[in-house]
Amino acid sequence: SDEILIVGGGLAGSEAAWQLAQRGYSVCLVEMRPVATTPAHQTDMMGELVCSNSLGADNLTSPAGILKGELRYLNSLIMEAADHSSVPAGKALAVDRNVFAGYITKKLSGHPQIRIERREITELPEEPAIIATGPLTSPIFAERLRQVTGQEYFSFFDAIAPVVFYDTIDMNKAYQGGRYGQQADYINCPMNEEEYIKFCQALLTAEQAPRHEFEKDVRYFEGCLPVEVIASRGIDTLRFGPLRPVGLPNPSTGAEPYAVVQLRQDNADGTLFNLVGFQTSLKWGEQNRVFRMIPGLENAEFARYGVMHRNIYVNAPKVLDGSLRLRGSKALFLAGQITGVEGYLESTAMGLVAGLHVAFCAAGLQIPLWPKETAIGSLLRYLAETDPKVFHPMNVNLGIFPSLDVKIRPKSLRCQKVGERALRALEEFDKNCLK
Ligand code: FAD
Repeated sequence: SDEILIVGGGLAGSEAAWQLAQRGYSVCLVEMRPVATTPAHQTDMMGELVCSNSLGADNLTSPAGILKGELRYLNSLIMEAADHSSVPAGKALAVDRNVFAGYITKKLSGHPQIRIERREITELPEEPAIIATGPLTSPIFAERLRQVTGQEYFSFFDAIAPVVFYDTIDMNKAYQGGRYGQQADYINCPMNEEEYIKFCQALLTAEQAPRHEFEKDVRYFEGCLPVEVIASRGIDTLRFGPLRPVGLPNPSTGAEPYAVVQLRQDNADGTLFNLVGFQTSLKWGEQNRVFRMIPGLENAEFARYGVMHRNIYVNAPKVLDGSLRLRGSKALFLAGQITGVEGYLESTAMGLVAGLHVAFCAAGLQIPLWPKETAIGSLLRYLAETDPKVFHPMNVNLGIFPSLDVKIRPKSLRCQKVGERALRALEEFDKNCLK
């Protein structure tokens, strides 16, 4: 048949189905709930929010707001549902989750181009198709996908270290350098004994994020322990582990510090750096407090915080071709969080993109390249160009956009300029490539 199959009726799958249907394509949307369910979903509705009912900030002075602006411009069903179901939440866009998912479900099931099936998919679908089964993809299908992508490029679990903006690191205290004079790819934050001991104590007493019931049985891999767990094994354990100072003399003294926190470049542009070995389950506010005790990071701003949680996703730079298409396939696309983005609207955006791209394929047209100035283009570029060795899921933040030519402070104003540039670029792209 000439139906396009979409697997998963979450945020991404729903958005993809809508975009295709609105362009006249016939869609079969397959959702396993309520026949089977995930450990986090509670209803059989499409576009159910599994946790918070907030979709984040909603104006151009924040990166999440830029993404919302782009999605609205592109007639996103998820944004339409959010605007329809919003509840008061200051500058954020929060929704009544039942009204939200109810709206999406009704719009999709009432659409003449969309057919909804309730069953679990266990085999790779025939092309053209979109896989949008989310961070809690059913186990059998996840195993199938893992075989296709190769196991080293398929993750079941996130152990992510926090990421900071390069331009908020105090380079008067921190210094560039590689261990034993190797390439100076790292930024090193030196600690003396007193700073180190205070830091370890703060780590050990900081509050941890609550775990979901279904994650309580998650075992840590020895090679990837949370930094607070390493610290709990003895006062010197960190100093002989990720914070070891050997071969990293401080150029201002010539001596090796007592301990060193290393930061590694996190995106192609070098605007983001992650704290090496600092995967953590501390609460975000605690990460902000404790990690700013590190010399050089006193005023650091976090592009994303560390997390340890269940999350199924692929190593996008290896597995996808830059347009969300599975390498080696003609028209099999991934969409949503499984592509390696993180967040409700990031997932939605990767559903919208997959929908449009599959339409280009079905029409025998070449898939256009999204402008890098846009939030959507920046997310796609992160998925395509990040070094696979350090790849981890990413949310929308200023660090993934190309920098402006001029330095603008404060950050909110800079963000607004980035946002205005994004919407201009999107309009141009829409006129030239999408229409
Ligand atoms: P989903 O919305 O999960 O949709 C996937 C759909 O596929 C589901 O409906 C599922 O039932 C279906 N499915 C799975 N396997 C199959 C199969 N084999 N056959 C047929 N159907 C299948 N992001 C935020 O921004 N804020 C938060 O507060 C937040 N909290 C989260 C909490 C948890 C526990 C998790 C796991 C993630 C959270 N996220 C959060 C991250 C992410 O934004 C959401 O998971 C988001 O729903 C992802 O959208 P998606 O469309 O990719 O996947």
